[in-house]
Amino acid sequence: MNKVVKFGGSSLSCAEQFEKVGHIIGLDKDRRYVVPSAPGKRDSKDRKVTDLLYETYELAVNKEDFSGVFAEIESRYNDIIKGLKLGVSLKDEFATIRKNLKNGIGSDYVASRGEYLNGILLADYLGYAFVDAAEVIFFDKDGNFDSEKTYKVMREKLEGIERAVIPGFYGSMPDGTIKTFSRGGSDITGSIVARSVKADVYENWTDVSGFFVADPRIITDPENIEMITYSELRELSYMGASVLHEDAIFPVRREGIPINIRNTNKPEDNGSWIVQSTGQKSRFVITGIAGKKGFCSVNIEKDKMNSEVGFGRKVLQAFEDNNISFEHMPSGIDTMTIIVHQDEFIEKEQRVVSEINRLTHPDNIDIESDLALIAVVGRGMRSSKGTSGRIFSALAHANVNVKMIDQGSSELNIIIGVKNEDFENAIRAIYNIFVVAQL
Ligand code: ASP
Repeated sequence: MNKVVKFGGSSLSCAEQFEKVGHIIGLDKDRRYVVPSAPGKRDSKDRKVTDLLYETYELAVNKEDFSGVFAEIESRYNDIIKGLKLGVSLKDEFATIRKNLKNGIGSDYVASRGEYLNGILLADYLGYAFVDAAEVIFFDKDGNFDSEKTYKVMREKLEGIERAVIPGFYGSMPDGTIKTFSRGGSDITGSIVARSVKADVYENWTDVSGFFVADPRIITDPENIEMITYSELRELSYMGASVLHEDAIFPVRREGIPINIRNTNKPEDNGSWIVQSTGQKSRFVITGIAGKKGFCSVNIEKDKMNSEVGFGRKVLQAFEDNNISFEHMPSGIDTMTIIVHQDEFIEKEQRVVSEINRLTHPDNIDIESDLALIAVVGRGMRSSKGTSGRIFSALAHANVNVKMIDQGSSELNIIIGVKNEDFENAIRAIYNIFVVAQL
């Protein structure tokens, strides 16, 4: 067996957390490749090292004094070295970073040093080899992840190394400069490493015991999701459920490597399993509920729209020309609605409207803002009748007006549009009918 284990920032925020990580790794000799984040918050008032690094960069580009913030970063690492009584010193590394900052190095390099330095410490603590991600993760000249080169180089490199620490979050460009993934990107690194070494499992250790059926900020003490498929997770994380970076499933998905989300502070919990497909029924008809506020709907009406060939294409053309992606497109015989992100759309709205007018000559265009979308996701919906009926009667009982409904042909999810102010109520109503009523 061969496991890739990724530890998030809160799992490696201080010496005590490092000890928990060391203990977890020691429990299973198959945990051979380890991907760390930068030190995260030690308590709710603390700051993440990555945020401190971005601040340092801002001060440096504006030619302001960054020594105070930089000293804070140094002390975060030095405290870990002291707490664990490590033999390693980061003095030279700090000097190099300071020099590079003064010479105007890019923000990605600066941000990536959080993982880089933490990787050096973790490798030393575990007695594992340190492999700099810049040598094994690559981007092409346009800044896109270069999967072909990465998998080949990383596989060859790690084949010869029994146990290694590979820092998360970054890789290198063809000219050797450092580039990071988007925030939270160490999850992607873990997935890339798992794919490269064809791991049996990708364990992602964080500070919660996996996914919840609904957001704990809305539902007190929600139930856990024991098993979820990649596709279900994709729907949920796209709609705001954030435990794992939404791009982290792509590398492992192709190889069918399962991801196990675990809690560093409660290693005895089984966490959540993310798998390609499963015959195992989920505990409830639905697997999860997630959602986001801040959408707009653009409703277009025109008599006999249905018989006008090319109408839909022309409407979408107006959005494409203004570089706006659309989320959903429910339609009727003589109406068509385009749902877009409000913040992307609002400043271009009049341009889009006039282009739709010019291209399609509609009878009416009506824009409604402050909408929320809720995704009710579950592989169990395919085999159970009346799911949408139950959702809508629950919403009616909760006095929530449904503005839009969209059910994908996969029967994996139902998307419901409501007013922003009804968002929390709607989620509670759906959770109650499918989860609370069934416990
Ligand atoms: N340290 C980076 C961040 O804070 C990446 C990560 O933790 O995954 O976004």
